[in-house]
Amino acid sequence: MTAETATTATDRTPAESTANPLVAATAAGHHRILTGDRPTGPLHLGHYFGTLRNRVELQSRGLELMIVIPDYQAITDRDRADRPAEHAEELVLDYLAAGVDPERATIFTHSAVPALNQLLLPFLSLVSVAELSRNPTVKDEIAHSRQSTVSGLMFTYPVHQAADILFCKADLVPVGQDQLPHLEVTRTIARRFNDRYTTLFPEPQALLSRAPLLLGTDGGKMSKSRGNAVTLGATADETARLLRGAVTDPDRHITYDPEHRPGVSNLLLLTALCQDRDPHAVAAEIGNGGAALLKRTATEAVNEHFRPLRARRAELAADRTVLREVLHAGNARANAVADRTLTEVRAAMGTF
Ligand code: ATP
Ligand code: MG
Repeated sequence: MTAETATTATDRTPAESTANPLVAATAAGHHRILTGDRPTGPLHLGHYFGTLRNRVELQSRGLELMIVIPDYQAITDRDRADRPAEHAEELVLDYLAAGVDPERATIFTHSAVPALNQLLLPFLSLVSVAELSRNPTVKDEIAHSRQSTVSGLMFTYPVHQAADILFCKADLVPVGQDQLPHLEVTRTIARRFNDRYTTLFPEPQALLSRAPLLLGTDGGKMSKSRGNAVTLGATADETARLLRGAVTDPDRHITYDPEHRPGVSNLLLLTALCQDRDPHAVAAEIGNGGAALLKRTATEAVNEHFRPLRARRAELAADRTVLREVLHAGNARANAVADRTLTEVRAAMGTF
């Protein structure tokens, strides 16, 4: 991908980003990326264009890549996580197929790193209940929760996410738009810890892509848990079936207008991302062809773009021991980092 396909978000707004942010981010001295995906299902096109492609690109530019598989966060919105270890392996499969280099990346499961989780306690003391209550992403996740009540774990979601990011002192976080409010909490926690005790943590910056919120087939955010996703590993036929069912509108003249025509524009953007083009140009080409032609165009673009990734994924799936080894090695590395940070935190707080 080209460096121009991403935007950076700071404590101001993503719209104020620089024109060539990946290069700018690297040049600005960022050195460690942390990002992750809940082990609630396989990765989808939203992950790929939202963050995964940027992770691979930044790793290839020499930044250190940490990927958390936050298995405890899989029980924020459901009573039990469904086969979290199996899903974690599937995520590793998706990462490797997408081009993440496991030799240089640290891919780890959150529950296997005790010192990381211990950071939650001091961090909880740095935010107010009022701040947690007004987090819009927590509200949205509660609205889609499978539980009738809100657990303490759901309520404190942004705080454990802060622990995930700060334990390794990551300074750049490639995320989708839904994660921006969470990242603000992380930045607040870092700032307050540094002010109250001693300067230990960077205030990490978000990195948004050109597709910070890819929509699913039902018109809502494409999500692993909402039954509206096209997965990276889907077959060409599954992709065609799913995209045929995508929500559009009755106007046969296809135009790119994300605000008024979200479904149509989403398919145009998806096509444009796959073909490295401008969505307006894709729309002009389809003209009065209607939603059916748009869907066929998007399907061909997705299937063409993901053919090599899907082939690599199928090859890698043949040997699951490799996937487990990647996680074991990643957990060992993450534990060493977390132990060091916890020692520093305890010294800063003056605990015994
Ligand atoms: P779940 O439904 O289980 O919450 P999810 O699809 O929302 O799954 P997450 O594991 O919660 O995926 O998110 C992992 C990362 O991918 C986050 O940085 C998130 O912002 C990003 N992401 C998720 N969905 C999209 C999307 N539709 N468009 C762009 N980025 C996305
Ligand atoms: Mg999510």
